[in-house]
Amino acid sequence: MHELSIAVQIAEIIVEEAQNAGASTVSKVELEIGSLAGIEPDAIELAVPEAFKSTICEGAEIVFHYIQAKAVCESCCSEFDPADHFKICPFCNSLYTSFIKGKELKIKSFDIIKP
Ligand SMILES: [Zn+2]
Repeated sequence: MHELSIAVQIAEIIVEEAQNAGASTVSKVELEIGSLAGIEPDAIELAVPEAFKSTICEGAEIVFHYIQAKAVCESCCSEFDPADHFKICPFCNSLYTSFIKGKELKIKSFDIIKP
């Protein structure tokens, strides 16, 4: 389950940044996950609280923002919702398309409590 190793990395980043900011506790974490990031929602929602255990993030409220992928056609400039990784323009059938969002996996924000 690679979500757990991703969750551990997320926890490490937040713990380091929160400690640098002088936090004793992290109260809330917001994460952004694109639909093309290769993350199983069920798995990541279990893995993140697991990774937070025994850190200053333990017990934090965790908000997952899932971002629907979007692609743009370079031939006709239309934007569309790609089905998985298969992205042919539905308007002109062009193959010259690129993703403009959907691959993100990032920490949007977190709230800290200082002692
Ligand atoms: Zn097109």
